[in-house]
Amino acid sequence: MRACDLERLELIGFNRSSGLPLFGDYRMVMFGMPSLARLQKDLIQSLGMEKAAIILSRFGYDSGLGLATTISELYDFDSPEEWLRAGAILRTMAGFANEELIDISIEPDKKMLKMTGRWRDSFESVNWLSQFEPHETPICNILASLSSGFASAVLGSEVLVREMSCRAQGHEYCQFEARPISEWGISADDIHQRFDINPLEEELTRLNAALHLAREDLRRQNVEISRLRLLTRQAETDGEIIFRSDAMSRVLTLASKVSPTRSSVLIQGESGVGKEVMARYIHRHSTHFLDPFLAINCAALPPGLLESELFGHVKGAFTGADSNKKGLFVEAGEGTLFLDEVAELTPELQAKLLRALQEKEIRPVGGLTVSPIHARIVSASNRDLREMISQGKFREDLYYRLAVFPLFISPLRDRRQDILVLARHFLSNLNPNSSGFSPDALRCMETYHWPGNVRELSNWVEYAVILAGNERIMPEHLPLHMSNQPADPLTILGSDLPTLEELEKRYIHLVLQNSANRRNEAAKKLGISTATLWRRLQHQ
Ligand SMILES: [Zn+2]
Repeated sequence: MRACDLERLELIGFNRSSGLPLFGDYRMVMFGMPSLARLQKDLIQSLGMEKAAIILSRFGYDSGLGLATTISELYDFDSPEEWLRAGAILRTMAGFANEELIDISIEPDKKMLKMTGRWRDSFESVNWLSQFEPHETPICNILASLSSGFASAVLGSEVLVREMSCRAQGHEYCQFEARPISEWGISADDIHQRFDINPLEEELTRLNAALHLAREDLRRQNVEISRLRLLTRQAETDGEIIFRSDAMSRVLTLASKVSPTRSSVLIQGESGVGKEVMARYIHRHSTHFLDPFLAINCAALPPGLLESELFGHVKGAFTGADSNKKGLFVEAGEGTLFLDEVAELTPELQAKLLRALQEKEIRPVGGLTVSPIHARIVSASNRDLREMISQGKFREDLYYRLAVFPLFISPLRDRRQDILVLARHFLSNLNPNSSGFSPDALRCMETYHWPGNVRELSNWVEYAVILAGNERIMPEHLPLHMSNQPADPLTILGSDLPTLEELEKRYIHLVLQNSANRRNEAAKKLGISTATLWRRLQHQ
């Protein structure tokens, strides 16, 4: 059969039952030009010219191979040349372009092919010009690759149809030329790169891997950013010590001198004065502020548990030790290990701690090997360790290891200037909308003796905020024991400081009032004779 004998209407048909269009026995799908134009544009805009060309070429090449196979199943062509000519007719029928073959020369053994031709109104060039400016290079990727696939099927070896000039470049029509790949002077690898999906798969795999790595990296960086952010926030609050007193100023000067060193610091002071806050201050101002700050209260755990918390244990060291534990000394790394209430250590643990500090290594409970330790030790106690040493309750050698640099924080009642600034600081943290303290409430706070120190003050402010909400904090918002405190009544005089004579006069009248003006009773309360009381009253 010759190509010119093809009857176009015989090739195209419809499935009688379903009504779907057929090419030979194969179902067809018809797209309008505008939809294909949209696809062309989307591919180019999302992937770029080069990758879009690869996808379109791959699509065209497969279609060309399929078309050549289908038509050869339907008809026996007289020669490969007729088969190739049929291809041109089919491409025109399918609407790709109005194709004219100008010249075909094909050798009998089919090893050599040269074919030239034109595509008029190729759908790709028409779509291109409807959406873009003329392009520098040919753009009919589907047509060229479809023709390549078809010719390759005919020749039984790789043929490349190249578009030499294109209507999308501004020419009247597209011109193409077909030759075996080797004739083009390019390797089969190049053409496979063009028509195989593999490069895309590889590219996608590579991009996916890179994306995965980038995501991992981003995740790590985010974790690091959150950690640093948290540290900064903690440094702002933990490292912040609120004070106005000279006493606290002196302690902070000392603390900031010792912070950058690796010396052991012992912080002493009553319960609640803020020893842990000071320990954190020292850590935040040390050169290892990014390393951990780990704190443990030596009074809070039974000795056995405390030992394994501090020094770690090996699996099976005791009942319940079902895995190895590093212990705080090791976990603190080069950071700070804060031992609160260090006076509560048993003699055995004092000995073990001393050994750890001397040898700079620890042996976990039940373990045979030692681990080096690098953490800086800051300890604290509310007890007088020197007194305990004299009573034989605390090891003197351990004391000197811990107290290389001793710091003492005074009780709050000895630095009353700090009370108001601390109270206001706690209040603004707890309730930024608060209306502040009433003068009476401030007076109560200033005169209170604060046995629980800063911690008690902080609790008190919290209590008052719960009761007062956004309103001004009054004495009635204080805990009862504070507002009813048997404080020295003279403090109530506040800034109104009378002379001694004036005070005596007012006091005598107060006592008289309390005694319902019974002078005998008043004199007894005043500790003077009735006659003296008379005399005083007359002088007033
Ligand atoms: Zn073209």
